[in-house]
Amino acid sequence: MLNKTGVPQLEQVLSVFPDRKALLKPKAILECYEDIPCNPCSTSCPFDAIEIGPNINKQPKLKVDLCTGCGLCVPSCPGLAIVIAQLKDHEAIFKIPYEFLPLPEKNTIWHGVNRSGDVICDARIDHVLMSPKNDNTAIITVSVPEVFLHDFVTIREKNE
Ligand code: SF4
Ligand code: SF4
Repeated sequence: MLNKTGVPQLEQVLSVFPDRKALLKPKAILECYEDIPCNPCSTSCPFDAIEIGPNINKQPKLKVDLCTGCGLCVPSCPGLAIVIAQLKDHEAIFKIPYEFLPLPEKNTIWHGVNRSGDVICDARIDHVLMSPKNDNTAIITVSVPEVFLHDFVTIREKNE
């Protein structure tokens, strides 16, 4: 389905999410569904938590137990295919890469958007990180209701 629509099926999405117990701590979500010759996510991880193997065309797999949720892999991905997710206090807390302007401001409410580009919920901006180490990729910490854990993917400004 991804090849035809560009939108992954639910079963594909679920396959890259650790279970709810694991997500009580932050974990990387690798939304990389195509076999492509790419591996900076794997080489950027200081904990060897992303496995691709000897064939660089294979999709990356997360070794959930080794992932600390440090987030170093997020800006390494040229396809913006990695986020960090955690469950806490009935919210799903994400760290997402964001390369659009304007950047959101902390403590503002933006739209939460799904993989089809539809607005699905409010998204609270908790933190905005711009670091020279991440080139022009901002890392936005954003919280949405827990029920949107597997649907939320990015943010959009409310007045758009
Ligand atoms: S979040 Fe940190 S520990 Fe987890 S896969 Fe990414 S770089 Fe490795
Ligand atoms: S860096 Fe991104 S696009 Fe490349 S293999 Fe890793 S997750 Fe996939």
